Amino acid sequence: MHILVTGGAGYIGSNCVEQLLLRGDRVTVFDNLTEGHRAAVHPDAHLVEGDLRDRGQIHAALEAARPDAVMHFAANALVGESMTNPSKYFQNNVVGGLNLLDACVAAGVRRFVFSSTCATFGVPDTVPITEALPQRPINPYGESKLMFEKILRWYDEIHGLRFVSLRYFNAAGAGERFGEDHRIETHLIPNVLKVALGQKEHVEVFGGDYPTPDGSCVRDYIHILDLAAAHLLALGRDESAFYNLGTGGGNSVFEVIESCRRVTGREIPAVVKPRRPGDPPFLVAGSDKIRRELGWTPRFQKIDAIVESAWKWHVRHPHGYGD
Ligand code: UDP
Repeated sequence: MHILVTGGAGYIGSNCVEQLLLRGDRVTVFDNLTEGHRAAVHPDAHLVEGDLRDRGQIHAALEAARPDAVMHFAANALVGESMTNPSKYFQNNVVGGLNLLDACVAAGVRRFVFSSTCATFGVPDTVPITEALPQRPINPYGESKLMFEKILRWYDEIHGLRFVSLRYFNAAGAGERFGEDHRIETHLIPNVLKVALGQKEHVEVFGGDYPTPDGSCVRDYIHILDLAAAHLLALGRDESAFYNLGTGGGNSVFEVIESCRRVTGREIPAVVKPRRPGDPPFLVAGSDKIRRELGWTPRFQKIDAIVESAWKWHVRHPHGYGD
């Protein structure tokens, strides 16, 4: 297959591109390189530099590539930032995404895999979070992804665009080649590992008074290669579907820090700070549906194995991609 991957220079996109190439697919990456890195574009993929907010650029890229399917990763994905700059999230994630969908329809693309998020659920009434729970986002990031999911339903019904929307929980870890390097790093694991590398004095724990067993937020960390595997399986599905995608296990912020101490053998001081706006206390996936329907099983079930792969990558790339 020929797959056009938006955001293929980013953390999750780059790892998916590598897995597609490994199974023999042809890949075109469409990325504006604001969040992504040129060095994260696999040398066997064709890079088109462009911005989804520019309708002409994405129409031209899809007309030229005429791919069998599109995987859409390109988006802004920071809860905290979305609470201070909502416009950025609605512009990039909704307007940019809509431009992409229109270009898919014009170019005759019939298959679409979307990077959605558990942030579309907000604070769930029950956990684990299954697909049946109501979606009530509590930040513009989650809202923007939910808006796009709704648009997808209509493009399926009206234009016959078959989609799979994968609602990720917390992507983590690294592949052999590509890892996590955000220009402004807000994510937990890379920030803890920066302390282990001696690049930061301590890690901040955002909130120690949540209604969770140890008072810090609980998240479902899923390895990037398990995420990539789900995308490859999604490409083979003929009917549109939404899947929650996590391991079903949860780790608190304190547990993640403890895991990083075990894996790195370093001290890693932690300081408890006030809560970060927009953070739900407890997010763990109910992933029965994707296991049942796509036969997906996570290979990385333990937080230490996930942290270990991240640590290996950060030791080899202490300054990320260096751009
Ligand atoms: N977090 C933290 N310190 C950090 C970064 C994150 O305590 O330096 C917390 C954050 O408040 C959340 C969890 O770790 O409860 C995971 O945050 P992350 O930004 O990695 O992912 P998110 O769940 O926001 O997508």
